[in-house]
Amino acid sequence: MGQNQPNIVFIFTDDHCEQALSAYDPSRMSTPNMDRLANEGMRFTRCYVTNSICGPSRAVIQTGKYSHLNGFFRNGQSFNGDQQTFPKLLKKAGYQTAVIGKWHLGTTPQGFDHYDVLVGQGPYYNPPMITEGEDGEPVTLPNTGYTTDVITDKTLAWLREDRDSTKPFMLMYQHKAPHRDWKPGPKYLNWLDDVTIPEPETLFDDYATRTRSAARQTMEIKTHMNARDLKLEPRGNLNDEQWEVWNAAYEPKNQAYLRALPNMTEKEIIQWKYQRYVKDYLRCVKSVDDGIGRVLDYLEEAGLARNTVVIYSSDQGWYLGEHGWFDKRWMYEESLKTPLLVRWPRAIEPGSVRDEIVSNLDFAKTFLTLANVKVPSDMQGRSLETLFRGNQPENWRKVFYYHYYENPGAHNVARHYGVTDGRYKLIHFYELEGEALDDWELYDLENDPNELNNLYGRPEVARIQRQKLNQIKNLRERFQVPETDPVFERRRRR
Ligand code: CA
Repeated sequence: MGQNQPNIVFIFTDDHCEQALSAYDPSRMSTPNMDRLANEGMRFTRCYVTNSICGPSRAVIQTGKYSHLNGFFRNGQSFNGDQQTFPKLLKKAGYQTAVIGKWHLGTTPQGFDHYDVLVGQGPYYNPPMITEGEDGEPVTLPNTGYTTDVITDKTLAWLREDRDSTKPFMLMYQHKAPHRDWKPGPKYLNWLDDVTIPEPETLFDDYATRTRSAARQTMEIKTHMNARDLKLEPRGNLNDEQWEVWNAAYEPKNQAYLRALPNMTEKEIIQWKYQRYVKDYLRCVKSVDDGIGRVLDYLEEAGLARNTVVIYSSDQGWYLGEHGWFDKRWMYEESLKTPLLVRWPRAIEPGSVRDEIVSNLDFAKTFLTLANVKVPSDMQGRSLETLFRGNQPENWRKVFYYHYYENPGAHNVARHYGVTDGRYKLIHFYELEGEALDDWELYDLENDPNELNNLYGRPEVARIQRQKLNQIKNLRERFQVPETDPVFERRRRR
């Protein structure tokens, strides 16, 4: 393996936000192993996703192209794996490629020497996983244990035993956690029981100051969490042994809640649900952090750490109660942003922080340039390698284009697109429940970081508004966004 082809370990989670990663925000929990990547490497403060939803984000990463070019707009679609992807190009260039854990693109992974992936979303316990059978066809095999640990164990087994040590490798180590319904592992069922997690300022948001879309979503902690989310009806597919441990942890807490419930105010019930939800979410993250620690330790032991680029990211950000919500999808900050940490001792200055606007659109090109593979001209985004090396790239993007398509759909977030420069953000909501909208929102994040004060149409922002409208037009042209929404399932009322 030459110095010119570093190993790549891409650690990926589902729905993990910066608010639950202590290198970004230490107020709710500590994530020492993720923080290790930040302290020994580089932390990006503005990593935006192009379409804040699970499958589409994964398709963007595979292809380096926006949803309208890779064809995967919304969950439930099947990814066309016959198209050009970065793992195929790395494999061709001599890399050994593997994906272990959550895949969630509907079709069998292509471009990998080894795959071992969850079926769809996969459960939190005892996940069946799909791998290549001896005949070369996909085969689904059972597993016992907590899914986060199962994925980590398989990752370590591949690194230790199955990897061809004569080749550089690109490993995608991808967790289901901390996706809904936030089932913690056995080790952390009672962790955080005796603390109170701080509430976000906007937990009781009434949406009065924005256009109609915000009030018409269905992702409120108050209204839309079900008994399974809240672990009031929790068994799922746990086996007897797992259930005994689980029930011993939750049953006393549930009984105390049910006893208190008749005398609780509506506000107190929301607060209880918030604590239950956020603690379970943080518990799921904690097991991921432990797993990352084990993988980082292995890289040290094996002498691989120095020339291995370790990347940590998630498919999008997430609402930990901000605006009263759980889930993602919006172009508002919490779900537009995703964590991005990169450690590469050979090139990255420890403890460095970059504020440039970067994106999951950039990952494919980045992996190719790191491997010294020629980047195809039809990939969008830009390589981050220059930033990794601490240099200032020329003409880095100042403004970013976002586009969300999944409506009608889960949690009823309107179709919308927009641009942001990190300070000002302009959003156009254009379709909700089959009805055409023409709603605009403009925010000044410096003076209104919670995005509560829609400035669109106000005289004091006229110049900014014109500038942002132009940027939308220009970026749509540059990225070849079709004039009209191309989603095949369009059900606009006629
Ligand atoms: Ca996700």
